[in-house]
Amino acid sequence: MSTKPQQPLPQQVNVDISQADDVKCDECGHDVFIPVFMIKKVRGIMSPNGQEMITPVRELVCNNWGQVK
Ligand SMILES: [Zn+2]
Repeated sequence: MSTKPQQPLPQQVNVDISQADDVKCDECGHDVFIPVFMIKKVRGIMSPNGQEMITPVRELVCNNWGQVK
């Protein structure tokens, strides 16, 4: 399992995306990633409203995940 690269998903910005660099997987060099969610449990003491809450955290994993030793 790879948690790299931790890039934010693309936003609507005025750049020519074709001029941007491809980000490749550190482990296998694959350049396609899948968004996944980790689930974090926020304890009441850390929460703004004092209630325990479940918060998804988005990560990207390599599309080749599971095929690489
Ligand atoms: Zn990979």
